[in-house]
Amino acid sequence: MKKRALVTGASRGIGAATARALAADGWEVNLNYFQSEAQALALAEELGCRAFRADVADPAQVRAMFQAMGPVELLVNNAGIAHDGLITDITEEEWHRLFDVNVGGVFNCVRCALPHMIHEKHGIIINTSSVLARYGGSCEAAYTATKSAVEGLTRSLARELGPSGIRVNAVAPGVIETDMLACFTREELDDMADKAPIERNGVPEDVARVTALLASDACAFVTGAIIPVDGGNRL
Ligand code: NAP
Repeated sequence: MKKRALVTGASRGIGAATARALAADGWEVNLNYFQSEAQALALAEELGCRAFRADVADPAQVRAMFQAMGPVELLVNNAGIAHDGLITDITEEEWHRLFDVNVGGVFNCVRCALPHMIHEKHGIIINTSSVLARYGGSCEAAYTATKSAVEGLTRSLARELGPSGIRVNAVAPGVIETDMLACFTREELDDMADKAPIERNGVPEDVARVTALLASDACAFVTGAIIPVDGGNRL
């Protein structure tokens, strides 16, 4: 029987690439999406898998998704939103939404995935941070704070859940060209690429391959790790 996985935010970008990479490695992948239904359903058809609509920030929607989907052995918490702007300009609503999706989404999904993983004494959780959590970023303070919280959760859950046979790691992408960077011009993106020792920006597959590796038995002794996937670009 195929091992079952859930990738949140799998309708586009890094999540969609991750779903493809895991499917290629033999995982039965379940896709989560929120607003991009057409893209999620097209990917589900391509991979021959199921897609579930849920706002990861909403515990009730996440619970309903897990009830419809059934238990998973691998949870990839990829869904996320960004915010670009001065700390003096962000609204309280935007601040709370960022935390609800980027941190609350991880909490909600982990809590639904854990009972089965703990029962089986086996599970893999891969969270999605950002290089910004390590280096900080002007005009990205709120987003960065959410990713720092994700890193704290990752390290603590690795300790808490290790004795239950559950590995918890995170990827920390650098500049990956997806819709999330649509606010930058081509020139600005090229400037970022110039700063990377590898001399290019990332593509979603760069992150997806690392996530698939973390999910594999090759990483059976890896937990509590935050893996930068940034071409060496320290922003
Ligand atoms: P993206 O292209 O904007 O895609 C975001 C994905 O998250 C979409 O599939 C979206 O689904 C989903 N999503 C957003 N809010 C959601 C919600 N409330 N519930 C469920 N799904 C939700 O972004 P990306 O670049 O692939 O980013 C993926 C992850 O990598 C994020 O956690 C992001 O913070 C992180 N990251 C990205 C970069 C980068 O340079 N791109 C760098 C560092 C970290 P719908 O469209 O269906 O709503």
